[in-house]
Amino acid sequence: MTDYALAFLDGNFIDAREAGILQVHALHYASSVFEGIRVYDGRAFMLDAHVIRLLRSAEIVGLQCGLDKARCMEILEEAVTRSRLVNSYMRPVVFNGGPDLGVFAPTNATRFGVLVWDWPSPFGDEEIREGISLTTRVPYRRPPESCFPSEAKASAGYLVGCINRQHSAIAGFDDALMLTHDGFVAEASGANIFALCAGKLLTPRPKGILNGITRQVVINHMPPDVCVEERDLDLATLKNADEVFLTGTAYEIMPVRRIDDFAFSPGPLTRRIAETYRSLTNLPPVQLETSNERAP
Ligand code: PMP
Repeated sequence: MTDYALAFLDGNFIDAREAGILQVHALHYASSVFEGIRVYDGRAFMLDAHVIRLLRSAEIVGLQCGLDKARCMEILEEAVTRSRLVNSYMRPVVFNGGPDLGVFAPTNATRFGVLVWDWPSPFGDEEIREGISLTTRVPYRRPPESCFPSEAKASAGYLVGCINRQHSAIAGFDDALMLTHDGFVAEASGANIFALCAGKLLTPRPKGILNGITRQVVINHMPPDVCVEERDLDLATLKNADEVFLTGTAYEIMPVRRIDDFAFSPGPLTRRIAETYRSLTNLPPVQLETSNERAP
């Protein structure tokens, strides 16, 4: 156990032994990964895929949480039952718990925690109905895959989203739309993007962005006439789209009504996809063809 000599927290010098929150490696270096899972009607939607991604993310950032997929699912299922919430949002997190604050701290314990809460949507009723506004006029782009392991849902990746989201709020927008390092459309701070352009539903390739589970549901489990093309998407094409929507566990299928100075209306395809998605959330789990399925 590291012997800290002094601690100061929230205005007071305190006993260093009481400063547990400061002695967490993850707080200093973002050495953590997490998942966001929605519970619908008492059932965690796509639980299998989320647990696979959580364990794969932990492996990528070098965290050994000591739980296998079966045990992890068991804990999360028990969390759903114990929460007594029929519809909820669940947040498992795997993190380096300290107390060694060296960058390389192999003796630290990896900790696993879960929070469950009632979070119907990050947006209000009006936004859900009319769509949300996005701005690309934010300071930071998504790093390329050579600079960040975007396959992992790693806390460190969220700082860029948090900063950009603050800028978008100050400018009066609901969310930030980030670009890739080389200037193509990437993703919002907590969601992937789709655009209906000249009759085709386009979405960025999963390179340097989080390959969202909701995104994969839309690609693989929509009616057969909805065919998605994954490709580099430039802003000019996006701004000429007939419909734009975001996908994410928290956002679900969220129409976009504005990007910078360009307006859109939630159109019939967005509505159809939103309805199909809703119906899937009440059905048995769908199988995804994710690259993460190689995980333990
Ligand atoms: N991109 C980012 C940056 C996100 O935080 C999320 C939310 N996890 C998504 C995309 C969508 O992922 P999912 O559909 O798995 O929730």
